[in-house]
Amino acid sequence: MTEDREVVRGTPVVPGIAYAPVIWPAPRPEVASGMPRIDGSLRDGEKVRFEEAANVVSQRLHDRASAVSDDAAGVLRANAAMAVDRGWMGAVHELITGGAPAEEGVVEATEQFVTLFTKMGGLMAERVTDLRDVRDRIVSELLGLPEPGIPTPVTPSILCARDLAPADTAGLDPEMIVGLVTALGGPTSHTAIIARQLGIPCVVAVPGLETVASGATVLLNGEAGELIVEPDPDEARSAVERGRTERMRIQAWKGPGRTSDGAAVPILANVQDGVGARSAGATAAEGVGLFRTELCFLDRDSEPGVDEQADIYSEVLEAFAGRKVVIRTLDAGSDKPLPFAYHADEANPALGVRGIRIAADNPGILSRQLDAIAVAGNRAQARPWVMAPMIATPAEAESFGRQVRARGLVPGVMVEVPSAALLADRILEHVDFLSIGTNDLAQYTMAADRMSSDLASLTDPWQPAVLTLVARTAEAGIAAEKPVGVCGEAAADPLLACVLIGLGVTSLSCAAASVSAVGAKIGTVSLDECRRAARDVLAASDSAQARDAALRSLG
Ligand code: PEP
Ligand code: MG
Repeated sequence: MTEDREVVRGTPVVPGIAYAPVIWPAPRPEVASGMPRIDGSLRDGEKVRFEEAANVVSQRLHDRASAVSDDAAGVLRANAAMAVDRGWMGAVHELITGGAPAEEGVVEATEQFVTLFTKMGGLMAERVTDLRDVRDRIVSELLGLPEPGIPTPVTPSILCARDLAPADTAGLDPEMIVGLVTALGGPTSHTAIIARQLGIPCVVAVPGLETVASGATVLLNGEAGELIVEPDPDEARSAVERGRTERMRIQAWKGPGRTSDGAAVPILANVQDGVGARSAGATAAEGVGLFRTELCFLDRDSEPGVDEQADIYSEVLEAFAGRKVVIRTLDAGSDKPLPFAYHADEANPALGVRGIRIAADNPGILSRQLDAIAVAGNRAQARPWVMAPMIATPAEAESFGRQVRARGLVPGVMVEVPSAALLADRILEHVDFLSIGTNDLAQYTMAADRMSSDLASLTDPWQPAVLTLVARTAEAGIAAEKPVGVCGEAAADPLLACVLIGLGVTSLSCAAASVSAVGAKIGTVSLDECRRAARDVLAASDSAQARDAALRSLG
């Protein structure tokens, strides 16, 4: 019985059970305002003190980078470089020359760069959290305080935090951090992505999390999205045992995706380059449901030529030779600006020229990419499926479909804008398949920025309004006898995956790390059970009710 125990609830992100003591990151340092000015004769010494602290922090980040996997090491090395960046150090020196103590110089120089990065937007704006993280590490070093951030536990622990910086999560050891819970963050937040990669049970957007003290023993249920403080130890241990059995079942799942009564639902992988495709190829993924091509070119100043593009696309086709591969054309703009694509200055980039819309201002960019995909397809003797992002009208779908068919490829479009879901039947007159991007569909349906931690409960794909649009799109697919998949983060949630199948979705595409969990879950439920759960979910008034309804019938 758990009713008389403290229970906090949030948005479930990664299923799984963990029972362990809580740790919180060490607090961030505070720099008191109005610190005394540094005397002119001591300013050079102050600069040396600052440089030493910056070097110590940079070296520590490098050391941590050499102890972790490639992706995580990249984040840590970038932060190590930031700590000794010449432009930023120059700004601190200038402030110390003006009399500021090193701590104050670090804080002020960081704010100058934060303003600059925020104005630049996109990926640069996302580096602001890293910049502030580096600032806090250097200030702590200057003040002689322990390094802020995550302690290294000696026994398995559940990490609770208000929010986590990429540098915090990059070095996490899944043997020691067995659960992640944050007060902020949404299903597509950085914390959620890392937790999914590491397979750590995770719950985000938990109001009242600060009441759970460091050292308290808690039972974390990543599927129900709840944290029980000081649970009955016997109940907790049997929950952990159930979780372990479930994990073994997931690890043993080898595909193909089908419900318990044999309805085929292919489980595909989302990839972003050849390396990712090769590691996804080692899972039970039956193909690639979303190849985000823009992510190959974020650091390129000029547009890669047709041959170079063809080489990159070939790598992915080869990793999945003989299997379905869905390539998405460049989704540039908004949070993913491409330096070589012209982007107008916009007040609301998420509502601006992004996705298929960049083709209008960048003559030839789409046709060159389609040529490259056709070359790669010929080389691999494959007929790739190709889809456009951010389609809003049947006319856009008609134009895209015509250009794709002219090259002998299979045309489709993403459904990420509510207008596309509402007119899915008319869009399907022009293309052969649809793929629903629930991340953007939730953002545009709920008028809530998908990057905002404060709005995570609105951008939750369990929102009945979002699922109603999914249902409408799937119905259009059934009527036209054309496939409708889901490739947003919703497809990585095993329980929601069952509901999507019940709504009529014909394939699911998710991060490679989630493929087995999704496949194993759908193998335990029948198509009729999925349909009944889908009906209950559509009748709910909010995301919590929707999830509870699905848990009752499919949990
Ligand atoms: C989506 O919007 O759900 C999607 C898959 O596209 P992205 O996350 O790349 O915007
Ligand atoms: Mg999208």
